Amino acid sequence: MSPSQLSGKVQTVLGPIAPDDLGVTLTHEHLLIHFKPLFAEPVEASRKGLSMSPVTIDDLGWIRANWANNYENLGLYDEETAIVEISRYYRAGGQSLVEASNNGIGRDPLALARISRATGLNIVMGSGYYVESFQPPDWRNKSEDSMVEEIVRDVEDGVGDTGIRSGIIGEIGCSWPWTEAEKRSVRAGARAQRETGAPLLIHPGRNPSAPGQIIEVISGAGGDVSRTIMSHIDRTITDFETVKALAESGCYIEYDLFGLEATFYPLAPIEMPNDGQRVDFIIRLIEAGHLGQIVVAHDTAWKTRLVRYGGHGYAHLIESVVPIMRNKGMSQGQIDAIFVENPKRILAFT
Ligand SMILES: [Zn+2]
Repeated sequence: MSPSQLSGKVQTVLGPIAPDDLGVTLTHEHLLIHFKPLFAEPVEASRKGLSMSPVTIDDLGWIRANWANNYENLGLYDEETAIVEISRYYRAGGQSLVEASNNGIGRDPLALARISRATGLNIVMGSGYYVESFQPPDWRNKSEDSMVEEIVRDVEDGVGDTGIRSGIIGEIGCSWPWTEAEKRSVRAGARAQRETGAPLLIHPGRNPSAPGQIIEVISGAGGDVSRTIMSHIDRTITDFETVKALAESGCYIEYDLFGLEATFYPLAPIEMPNDGQRVDFIIRLIEAGHLGQIVVAHDTAWKTRLVRYGGHGYAHLIESVVPIMRNKGMSQGQIDAIFVENPKRILAFT
């Protein structure tokens, strides 16, 4: 598919579709993901035991609170489970999703195509590279040009010999502190975006200043900031003025950890907002004139977030958060903008 053939269309794992066919869309999920590099093994013997226990009701409370310390929790490997879980989203009215897995976290094009056929959901697949700590050791020597080539090939010809094409560049992983190879990976993503017209999806480092720095690098590399989604705002920026300044750059602001409510967030020294607080941030962004840039998701990436393992599942935003939005005074037009119109605009190739 040349860029001109894709212009104005959304590229799913089953081929290009019209943006009007997207409907309700989550812009950052994982159906299958390899997340074990995040595993942090406790030192104490009894906690080592818990870290190796299966995800069952017996230890569910501990695993939920210490989700990065349980080995089995960190990975979604079962296709049949993915089909059952994401079907709940379809039955609740969901029609489409971005599956943000890419190099480093087990992207699986053929499985995504099978899940799409089995469920009737439109799935947009990622490209590019997740954070450096998930990459093979020689990755840090990869040149920017070869990264661009690989991403463009994923988008235009398909991943490997599968013929299945990426419809978004991301989630491009950045750590904090930001590594040199990750900076190259962001620049490569921005250059591939310019070449293909694809949308760009960024996983920023866990620091309030990270998103702004990344935006500067994207524009410096010739990328289109207004065609870029900044993920994980909920765990990155707790101060509204900083979120507002980021929105003024023109990028999409993604609240994508809905359903994850915890005072203690093990990966960064922040208090994770609850869903009501996330909606409050969204309302303030709307009041500041940024309705057209807000997108939402759950970023489901480990077992305890699935219904089967006692979690909220992929239908949580539709079933439990939309009622909160209505209670807090959001209009149907605003809800449709976030779930339908904004995804339609950002996911269509230019
Ligand atoms: Zn993600």
